[in-house]
Amino acid sequence: MFPKSPFLRNPLMESQILQRNPIQLEELMNWLCRPPTITTYRVNTLRTTVPAFKQKLQEILDERYTHPPKLYEVPSIPEVLCISPTSFNVVDMKQKQSDLQREVVVDSCCGAALLRGAHIYAPGVLAMEAGTKLNEEVLVYADLAGKCKQGTNIQYDSVDKIFLGVGVVRMQRHQIFGPAKSSTAEPLKGVAVEMIETISGVPTIGDLSCNEALLQNLPSIVCVRVLNPQPGERVLDMCAAPGNKTSHIAEVMGDEGEVIALDKVTNKISSMLEKITSLALKSISIYNFDATKAFNAAKEAENNERLGKPPFAANTFDKILLDAPCSALGNRPLLVFPPNMSQRMLESYPKVQRKLFSAAVPLLKPNGVLVYSTCTVTEEENEGMVAWVLDTFPQMSLVPATPHLGDIGLEQTALSNVERQYVQRFGQQAKEIEGVPFDTVGFFIAKFLKEY
Ligand code: SAM
Repeated sequence: MFPKSPFLRNPLMESQILQRNPIQLEELMNWLCRPPTITTYRVNTLRTTVPAFKQKLQEILDERYTHPPKLYEVPSIPEVLCISPTSFNVVDMKQKQSDLQREVVVDSCCGAALLRGAHIYAPGVLAMEAGTKLNEEVLVYADLAGKCKQGTNIQYDSVDKIFLGVGVVRMQRHQIFGPAKSSTAEPLKGVAVEMIETISGVPTIGDLSCNEALLQNLPSIVCVRVLNPQPGERVLDMCAAPGNKTSHIAEVMGDEGEVIALDKVTNKISSMLEKITSLALKSISIYNFDATKAFNAAKEAENNERLGKPPFAANTFDKILLDAPCSALGNRPLLVFPPNMSQRMLESYPKVQRKLFSAAVPLLKPNGVLVYSTCTVTEEENEGMVAWVLDTFPQMSLVPATPHLGDIGLEQTALSNVERQYVQRFGQQAKEIEGVPFDTVGFFIAKFLKEY
């Protein structure tokens, strides 16, 4: 049912960005345009237990599906719950495509979220035909070219729209777009179209995140387990917003110790603060701060009391997570490639990643651990960055990034064969867990030890 490369492509940019031969490139693009097939929740074990959340999820799935998807755990990461894809019926879906009259069009960003199991919120809707009724079943399309105007009330004709699935209308046009010749009334917030089924087969249960569990990509969860924070340690999360790994770090530490979370972007900080406050994690302190400036050589070493504000002195942290700003090309499904990004922007990421490393290394205590991660697939930001660190900082050595659930690093890069085995790349070679392909977003993890 999933069309081959259904997304908008610019082959010239693709080969420049990804530097692969044509066959590799084609395979990579076909993988990037599809969503991960598994859905993962990280259970907050300070608030509930995995069996309790599993039961809650099972009830939701049982209510929604005659043949509910499978729920399973990952042995090496006890706080994870995975949901397998549904066994949807292609024939039924084709029948609906010919039976249903009306359609709703969403933007490509919303389209990508739908393929991962989300519902449609009002701001994502571009077109809904006039006369569409509440609770009516509709065909849902994504406008890949970005040309459909918000508020369109007729059928939108374009070669660049792709069929995504079927949903039920939960809001009418005037609620979504506001009244015509608008008064002061605001468009409604909330679910505008509840998805029943999509061409990806990912269960359409929306986002069930709450204080007990978080919808989170599996490699992001693995990343914190690779860091392996311990109760009582001082941990720096350099690029922390929206704070999903920060809360995981504090939870793994049993909320004992100090977790300093920095982010440079001011408007991400308030929502992060809100989230962390609602989780009542007392070990976390959040600062709106540029992490490239987090090390201050002139600052006297702090005493053993609670840490002050950034910047910090040398040898302050036991562990550092550098979940770097990156080109984010592993965020599957990418329905438009390259995403809205210039060559200049793409080239800016390795520069900032190097600056962040240069601040991180002195901040780490001898024998401290630094984990570097990205959600992208380019060699330069991943294997290339690891090679640069090993060349630039003789005190840093690469160690195995365990638990190792992903693939090994790319061949024929600046990394040796041994180093390649140590890093973890979540890519096209999905492993199987419990007989289900462990298909995730594109991600990269490397772990370093500061030897002196
Ligand atoms: N670790 C986060 C999580 O798991 O929820 C995601 C982090 S995201 C990949 C990268 C973050 O780096 C963005 O929130 C961005 O605002 C932040 N950032 C970019 N440059 C930064 C800098 N110089 N200092 C601190 N944060 C920065």
